[in-house]
Amino acid sequence: MSITGKVALVTGAGQGIGRAIALRLARDGADVALVDINASKINQVAGEIAELGRKATVFVADVSQLDQVVAAVEHTYSTLGGFDIIVNNAGVAQVESLLEVTPEQVDRILRINVQGVLWGIQVAGKKFKSLGQRGKIINACSIAGHEAFALLGVYSATKFAVRALTQAAAKELASDGITVNAYCPGVVGTDMWVEIDQRMADITGAEVGATYKKYVDGIALGRAETPDDVAGFVSYLASPDADYMTGQAPLIDGGMVYR
Ligand code: NAD
Repeated sequence: MSITGKVALVTGAGQGIGRAIALRLARDGADVALVDINASKINQVAGEIAELGRKATVFVADVSQLDQVVAAVEHTYSTLGGFDIIVNNAGVAQVESLLEVTPEQVDRILRINVQGVLWGIQVAGKKFKSLGQRGKIINACSIAGHEAFALLGVYSATKFAVRALTQAAAKELASDGITVNAYCPGVVGTDMWVEIDQRMADITGAEVGATYKKYVDGIALGRAETPDDVAGFVSYLASPDADYMTGQAPLIDGGMVYR
């Protein structure tokens, strides 16, 4: 219960990793603002948080739009009476060959995965500074932020960019008592991987399920990652135990990519 009474905002909180992080931070004692483009899913998660005895609020926003991120943070502060932690988790996948990817595809994923994290850093950083308080900024990276994968080239580039933003923001904001870190999951069994596996099948002719199995078979700990595996590490990053860590993007992948 080390973050009891703190307020956390989680983007992409409607399902998958973001949902697990929101529930874990609530179990750790935080009140949580759930931000997503999908209203019905965040409403469901809000109900689950209420059952845990913590406060939850929902805000529909597209993280690629700066004005919507500003509104989400202001809603969080005015509704929950504080703002201490932001988890910039929302992101999208893209499976495409570098020889075929279109300007429209590149633009979309850069806006969500890179600008979405940048606006989260910017708006949260300004808010923490205006409140004259410490704060924690936590960003979704990936194994693909440490090593690029075939047919995931632009996705990998967005996650390398998240690592760059995490390092630069950590250096810019350290003197204000704001830490900035990222988490780098491996192969997590969410809808995102259902989409990746299907697209890999479409492009390579592999059977549906075969690409997911191939990647999972390569994990040293012998199983796919769960959203709760990721949430446990984010719980640490959000806690006072991580006060002396900043600018880092550790791998939490069951043993896939070694750095
Ligand atoms: P998911 O597709 O299951 O869930 C993503 C959530 O984000 C959804 O609720 C969706 O509605 C929301 N979202 C999408 N675009 C948004 C936008 N523009 N604004 C606000 N919300 C938006 O994905 P996931 O597997 O839970 O992944 C979460 C994060 O973790 C992503 O950043 C992803 O890149 C990263 N990640 C995932 C894996 C994995 O194996 N699943 C591995 C490494 C990193």
